[in-house]
Amino acid sequence: MDNNRIDIKNIPVSVETYKPEQSSQTKYASRDRIYVRSVKGLHQSLRRNMGFVFMALFMLLPWIQYNGTQAILLNIGEQKFNIFALTLWPQDFTILAWIFVIAAYALFFVTAFYGRVWCGYLCPQSVWTFIFMWFEEKIQGSRNQRMTLDKAPWSLSKFAKKALTHFCWLAFALLTSLIFVGYFTPVGPLFINFFTFEAGFWAVLSVLFFTLCTYGNAGWMREIMCTHICPYARFQSAMFDKDTFTVAYDEQRGENRGPRSRKDTDYKAQGLGDCIDCNLCVHVCPTGIDIRNGLQYECINCGACIDACDDTMTKMGYPTGLISYTTEHNLKGQKTRIFRGKLIGYFLVLVLVCAAFVINLALRKPLELDVMLDRGSVGGSLYRETASGLIENTYRLAMINKSQQPITLLLSVDSAEPLQWIGPTEVSLAGGESRDVPVSLALDPNEANRGRIIIRFSITDQANPALTVSQESTFFAGR
Ligand code: SF4
Ligand code: SF4
Repeated sequence: MDNNRIDIKNIPVSVETYKPEQSSQTKYASRDRIYVRSVKGLHQSLRRNMGFVFMALFMLLPWIQYNGTQAILLNIGEQKFNIFALTLWPQDFTILAWIFVIAAYALFFVTAFYGRVWCGYLCPQSVWTFIFMWFEEKIQGSRNQRMTLDKAPWSLSKFAKKALTHFCWLAFALLTSLIFVGYFTPVGPLFINFFTFEAGFWAVLSVLFFTLCTYGNAGWMREIMCTHICPYARFQSAMFDKDTFTVAYDEQRGENRGPRSRKDTDYKAQGLGDCIDCNLCVHVCPTGIDIRNGLQYECINCGACIDACDDTMTKMGYPTGLISYTTEHNLKGQKTRIFRGKLIGYFLVLVLVCAAFVINLALRKPLELDVMLDRGSVGGSLYRETASGLIENTYRLAMINKSQQPITLLLSVDSAEPLQWIGPTEVSLAGGESRDVPVSLALDPNEANRGRIIIRFSITDQANPALTVSQESTFFAGR
């Protein structure tokens, strides 16, 4: 057992949440609704700014043009991903795999160092949820006003506020869904065709599907995604140790908690700690937990409770930092080790996978050749004898120009036997074009051995002879 591991507590949530009165006890009670109070502070402005940059990038990137086409276009139908000057084909699967491995190790490294900050600051679920909560607050008011509104009987004003909130949620979900689908199909025509009812079936279906998913996730599911569905919440504890920075409450300093007057300066003599039990840290928490209960897997490290508590501490004239990003070692008065085996290990693996990715990218050739013996053209047999007595094999050379520039290719074959080439020796391909070219090879049986002859087809860039791709094949010279 690694005794450096810290325990994640799964504490029943006992936060002060508003629950509309139920007329009778139901077996399947609805979940308590969390009314999140807005808060200002260092971490919240950092989170908002990061969310803004993330959202701006997400919305602008598909509109950027490069060489006359959409710079980022993940065209699933044509099986090619354009990312500025780079075009990835299904054959480049390893490059995509390296990108996922890098993302995974970057997440492990950041989590081991600073807990779930990805969740709190940049995860799309959090970014969209905070935007939806912003709409909710602007239309329905503060936390207390929203609770009062929900408790009030239905009226025209209540209906108008609720309807406007849902309209804004749906409109924003539709906008971001169109942008998202615009990464997979040209974004300009998608917008025009969607609003003129000329978009294709699959485009419309995708846009509506992602609109409903966004609306459901950020409007209704919210913290349920983070606490019950997202697998990362479950396995994060494997990356935590006692030197991981997480949001934590300083129990030694805060307890015993209890209300007191601001003028009360001898509260310590009464056995009270610095926590005045104002519950603000709970009211601002988007996942509805009380961080004073200890580290819980629901915590997304967003820092909202830190800002709320620092504000309270400042008003009371106490030092800030009762809740802070800290480590378990720090809280116990011990030294936090930044450079530790686990973190160094994740970092080294991250460097290695980044290096492997760069090497893979550098060695990648913008040409692809696949040679197939075409038995169909010779009635299903491996070869045929021509009227002039030659033995002939037919092949299909499948070529892909994976670059975005046109290219002229010289076709050739290497063999120990004097093979005659029948077919084109030069092929021009546009950027991103793939083409199958049939060629035949013929051999005079009197000038060569019979049986199986190993040959090698090559395609060479006419403008850059160093760029050559070849593939081995077989010539059947009969028995
Ligand atoms: S406990 Fe604090 S840091 Fe964790 S989710 Fe709640 S508000 Fe964010
Ligand atoms: S915000 Fe600070 S003072 Fe208020 S209840 Fe939370 S920990 Fe205690």
